[in-house]
Amino acid sequence: VNEDDGSQRVLEAHQWLAKLYHHLLVNTTEGKDALDYLTERGFTRETIDTFQMGYAPDKPGVVATFLEKKGFHPQEMVKAGLLTATEGGDYLDRFRGRIIFPLRNHLGKTVAFAGRTLGEGQPKYLNSPETSIFHKGKLLYNFDLARGFIRKQSTIVLFEGYADVISAYQSDIKNSIATMGTSVTPAQAELMNRYAEKVIICYDGDQPGIEASVKTAKELQKAGIHVYIARVPNQQDPDDFIKAEGPDRFRREVLETSEPFVGYLMRYYRNQFNLQSEGDRFDYIEMILREVAKLERAVEREYYLQELSKEFSISLESLNEEMEKWRPKQK
Ligand code: ATP
Ligand code: MN
Ligand code: MN
Ligand code: MN
Repeated sequence: VNEDDGSQRVLEAHQWLAKLYHHLLVNTTEGKDALDYLTERGFTRETIDTFQMGYAPDKPGVVATFLEKKGFHPQEMVKAGLLTATEGGDYLDRFRGRIIFPLRNHLGKTVAFAGRTLGEGQPKYLNSPETSIFHKGKLLYNFDLARGFIRKQSTIVLFEGYADVISAYQSDIKNSIATMGTSVTPAQAELMNRYAEKVIICYDGDQPGIEASVKTAKELQKAGIHVYIARVPNQQDPDDFIKAEGPDRFRREVLETSEPFVGYLMRYYRNQFNLQSEGDRFDYIEMILREVAKLERAVEREYYLQELSKEFSISLESLNEEMEKWRPKQK
């Protein structure tokens, strides 16, 4: 944080506002519907406090009135992404009538907010814009609380949504984090690689979640991470599954049955190629060899080559020779 560009003040404004939103959620009648909603979703009071969840009322002037008393100017609040300026010269609260999820940096300081509608309104989630203290391509949601557990287990469970992370954390799966949605930047992959050998991708069980898993896996693999993919059945979100089936079944049936990325890919691509056709079969084999070539561990490479060898009756030598062409140059 650079002291001169006002970042320190932007940071302070966020800490104050997180407190206000939380207070409005848990102590006031204005926040009652939001609190009921969160309780119905299964979040305990302890969890609501731990994540400092809040409520932004649907009325004008909440942010400006509060932060002005703390000595902030409207212009600063606009720069902080907390107010938007209208053409007529008025200021509007960015978040209105939304449940607030503070987004904390690795030191536990709130640097942005995500606001969720209570019902079906659009957009479902509204995030703070990029500011001097919030770069969404660098932040890992819940990393501050998860970091110690991640280090100890050398494993990360990566989710798609904030609610999934919170649900998992509440279920004692504490090495849980998310990015802001399903894209993962090289910077985020680097950061994960610094703390963990293994990442289990546990995205939503719907089609977009499945497709995003493959994309994310490739990005993580580039950083040298051992990538596993967990599958949530019946198009559910991890959060839905935990609520419906309980944490024990989630652990046993989703996390513990996660499989290494290449094995997952072999099945995933099998559905996209027509393996009856010779041409397709060679394309499929090449695709898999390119993925196998990226694996760090020789035993793993050999394992998948054996699989291919058995399935397509091709000698291990040929497969190996072809695979070597795709091996990354040693650094
Ligand atoms: P919930 O369980 O509260 O309905 P979710 O986490 O399951 O929410 P998804 O629709 O699966 O929501 O989206 C996953 C993540 O993608 C969200 O947590 C959020 O980070 C991001 N996201 C979703 N919609 C938006 C949006 N309109 N703008 C920005 N980010 C979004
Ligand atoms: Mn989704
Ligand atoms: Mn969900
Ligand atoms: Mn979801």
